[in-house]
Amino acid sequence: MRKRRLGQTGLEVTEVGFGGIPIQHLDAVQTKEILDACLESGMNFIDTARGYTVSESFIGEAIEGQRDQWIIATKSTSRDYEGMKADVAISLSNLRTDYIDLYQFHFVKTMEDLDKILSENGAYKALLEAKAEGKIGHIGITSHSVDVLSEALDRGGFETIQFPYNPVESQGEAIFERAKGLDIGVILMKPIAGGAIRQGEISIKYVLNNPNVTVAIPGMDSVDQVRKNSAVGKEPLALTKEDLDIIREIKDELDGAFCRRCNYCAPCSQGIDIPLQFVVEGYLMRYHLEEWAYGRYSSLAVKSDNCIQCGVCETRCPYDLPIGEMMKRVSKNFKNYEETLKK
Ligand code: SF4
Ligand code: SF4
Repeated sequence: MRKRRLGQTGLEVTEVGFGGIPIQHLDAVQTKEILDACLESGMNFIDTARGYTVSESFIGEAIEGQRDQWIIATKSTSRDYEGMKADVAISLSNLRTDYIDLYQFHFVKTMEDLDKILSENGAYKALLEAKAEGKIGHIGITSHSVDVLSEALDRGGFETIQFPYNPVESQGEAIFERAKGLDIGVILMKPIAGGAIRQGEISIKYVLNNPNVTVAIPGMDSVDQVRKNSAVGKEPLALTKEDLDIIREIKDELDGAFCRRCNYCAPCSQGIDIPLQFVVEGYLMRYHLEEWAYGRYSSLAVKSDNCIQCGVCETRCPYDLPIGEMMKRVSKNFKNYEETLKK
């Protein structure tokens, strides 16, 4: 499979990598089958996270004895020194290795988060120490906010960024260009919009046509998906007329209905974390993580059920999403799931 240099890390990663979210609904045997298929297809990059429940440990078990064939990235939502130090140790143990190629700050949502990470006793200090001790190779950051990533690039010290990109989420294109100019690697999460795009291979092909990006990491939960997605990294990338027609169809279908998690709609008059409702709904409806999604949704103090349809958020959404209606849909989907549990 073709490779690209992951910015200043110097790592040569395949254009298509493995996104570790879906492992949460697989078992260890299935994980092994899928990762073996990834290796067979020529893939060399895995991205997982401390927060993806069993993902790190199943991956660790699956790649035991094959460590040198993989470039491993993981991430943690810890923001302070002690928390991050502990998380690096857990990741190393879960992944059954003494070295993680790339460790990222996961889901940095606000400037306050970034300040905390970079403060005197912040998580950055723990990753710098881990790097000096040879436990990790490089430091990266993941976010859904262009503003936060832009500020992170201003402050420096990050060797990679990770951001969503697909035909309906193009809001990161300027930041990718800036990152490329700074020799910072660009990792693409959600290249098939978390499963919302049915024509996954075309969507991956589309994002890889951007010369500023390095690697797309679709979540994959079957050998068949691995084969189809990895083929994109081997075949010519030029988009055909048919591909462009499909991209247009994808945009038409999802543009006015897909939340980009930018959070410009905040604050909700009732205190609902608006994008989070759609994220957990995605886990329920598309990632087959029903139990986890329901648990997460149920634990929220305020959620889509509490929406009073005031419409304030809709005036702030740059994508004109019908948020009130979407809140009704989220509530209905979770109520339907609740009904299935009673049967
Ligand atoms: S419409 Fe619903 S989600 Fe939007 S601000 Fe009002 S209560 Fe919050
Ligand atoms: S609802 Fe609109 S403004 Fe809010 S996070 Fe989603 S895309 Fe952004």
